[in-house]
Amino acid sequence: MTLESSVGEIKGVGEVLAKKFGQLGIKSVADLIDYYPRRYDDYSAISPTNSLHPGVVTIEAEIKQASGRYVRRGMHITEAIASDAVGSIRLIWFNQPYRVGSLKAGQKYFITGKYELSHQRFAIMNPAIELANEFPVNTARIVPIYRETKGLTSRQIRQALKQAMSLIESLVETLPTEVVNQYKLVDRSSALKTIHFPESDADLQAARYRLGFEEVFQLSLASLLNKQANLQQLAPPIMFNEKLAKTFVSELPFKLTNAQRAAIWQIYLDLQKPQPMNRLIEGDVGSGKTVVATMAALMALEQGWQVAFMAPTELLARQHADTIHKLLRPLGLETKVDLLVGSLSPAQKTKARAAVASGQAQFIVGTQALIQDKVDMHKLALIIVDEQHRFGVDQRKTLMSKAGHMPHVLSLTATPIPRSLALTVYGELDISIINIKPGGRLPIITKLVSPNSTKAVYQFVESELQAGRQIFVVCPLIKESDVIQANSAEKVYETLRTGVFKHWRIGLLHGKMKPSDKNQIMTDFVNHKLDILVSTTVIEVGVDVPNASVMLVEGPERFGLAQIHQLRGRVGRSHDQGYCYLMLSDSKQPSRRLKALESSSDGFKLAELDLEIRGPGAIYGTSQSGDLDLRIAKLSDTHLIAAARQAASQLIERQVNLLQYKQLMTNVTRLQSVTNLN
Ligand code: ADP
Ligand code: MG
Repeated sequence: MTLESSVGEIKGVGEVLAKKFGQLGIKSVADLIDYYPRRYDDYSAISPTNSLHPGVVTIEAEIKQASGRYVRRGMHITEAIASDAVGSIRLIWFNQPYRVGSLKAGQKYFITGKYELSHQRFAIMNPAIELANEFPVNTARIVPIYRETKGLTSRQIRQALKQAMSLIESLVETLPTEVVNQYKLVDRSSALKTIHFPESDADLQAARYRLGFEEVFQLSLASLLNKQANLQQLAPPIMFNEKLAKTFVSELPFKLTNAQRAAIWQIYLDLQKPQPMNRLIEGDVGSGKTVVATMAALMALEQGWQVAFMAPTELLARQHADTIHKLLRPLGLETKVDLLVGSLSPAQKTKARAAVASGQAQFIVGTQALIQDKVDMHKLALIIVDEQHRFGVDQRKTLMSKAGHMPHVLSLTATPIPRSLALTVYGELDISIINIKPGGRLPIITKLVSPNSTKAVYQFVESELQAGRQIFVVCPLIKESDVIQANSAEKVYETLRTGVFKHWRIGLLHGKMKPSDKNQIMTDFVNHKLDILVSTTVIEVGVDVPNASVMLVEGPERFGLAQIHQLRGRVGRSHDQGYCYLMLSDSKQPSRRLKALESSSDGFKLAELDLEIRGPGAIYGTSQSGDLDLRIAKLSDTHLIAAARQAASQLIERQVNLLQYKQLMTNVTRLQSVTNLN
């Protein structure tokens, strides 16, 4: 058996069980070893049989006698007596007829199970039992609990791991020796043995530290290498034209905030360098990122370069094109802006492509498809990506092959990324934070609503509708589900349409609809042909409907805080007050997490809280975190993060030949290519 062997080759794991392992993502023995426990139960304390308390107990005792019988059809009972120096105790198993045969009278065992009353007498029920002279995995130790699946228990997982013990004990080190020594890390083999079979809490902590360190170290190395590769590329320097910038600013209908100014200045410094910019602008919804991006584009346009602005949806692309058009009009540069999206007619597309090729169109706005399109963008120098956390190395390479050089990349996001996460997962990006909201905007009033108070909320919504305002209703699901108890968009839509709001125009929007239908519904809502929009989180990104004043979130328990924070940013975009009602699924006391939304309007604080309570996945929503999720390290563990990051940058600074660390580099290369979070 080797690490590459299928789990089916492990003694005791047959074809059926191997399938079950497969359901947990465990195909090979290596996968099994890499399957970390969710938590542990400590059964290491051994009690004498004469002083047991109800609950889970562990004893070390000899089996005196054992017998099995059917008490009625389909109900089998195995009973045994176990004795230690001070007394005896009854053991009972249900429906395990094979038990009797496996128990050896006169042998000493470790026995762990629930000590409780059974037919007026105390007994240990369905215990795990292992020979005391062997290495115990289920009893008399700190026992790991794994994520299980139907037909595959933690006991079986432990048993399989025990069979793989010799492989665990001979695992090779993946970290450079100097790193292991300098940071006093446990070696890889001991760490994994301890993770599955800990001898003490202290050992477990050291093992977790080691494995967590490795995760952050690999991520940091991946992002540092990406950054290094990026800096070795050449991009066309784009010079700063002060007069142009001043003219643009003087024509704006508002005054830039200091945070906007700072971000723009950093961008101008980046653009003048011969290396490609790779900057992320982070700012809450409504903080004014579009104008910052437009100012970045300004210099490129003036110097004859092309700019591509990519939005996650067509609708958003159209909205951006409009906004940018208006912003550039006072300078006479609006003629350079062109929209290129999938829904254009073939004739329109041909025309747009021709405009791009001739250089007439310089500022091209569209979806991601833009860069795959058969567009001649040989003068492309700047890419602006809206609501995409990063722009992939591979995508850059595609573009480089078109343009002959690396473009500068500016990413915009409303997702607040906590500092710890920014340093590890986004280490290759330079970050500017826009933490000031343009003046005159009121914080959104947020309230948790228990099911028996919905009527009052509906009355308020009615009054807003009467006043000519529009309403968003966001649901966690599209359709009803048997598995997940939550209000679906389809159900809420039907209920509202035929109930309290039947006299209003209501639309339904979700991700499974045809793009053209989605577009139509969204456009109708933007143009106030609909009063209420019931949707899933597809509306999360960027669409601007200043007339919308209320956001109802159904089943808020199912959303991340940062996600709800982004959602509520959809309302209160004009000078009027915006409201967000979180419609709780039940009357239970809401969590500390959700309560934070009532009191805080600081996206970063909420994201930190989410990170602490639910991990990185919560910040991006499940589908987006994937490979970048840490399994052991906690991003709140600042000490570990700092150490692992330092180790990674030292390695790069010393220009160590990384190719000698084969396994490490396989992992790092995979992480380097995980470029898109969306
Ligand atoms: P986001 O950061 O969410 O993309 P936008 O760029 O869409 O935000 O800006 C939101 C609104 O705020 C727009 O209507 C924009 O014109 C306006 N805005 C941007 N900057 C300022 C500012 N400094 N003062 C006032 N309004 C501003
Ligand atoms: Mg925006």
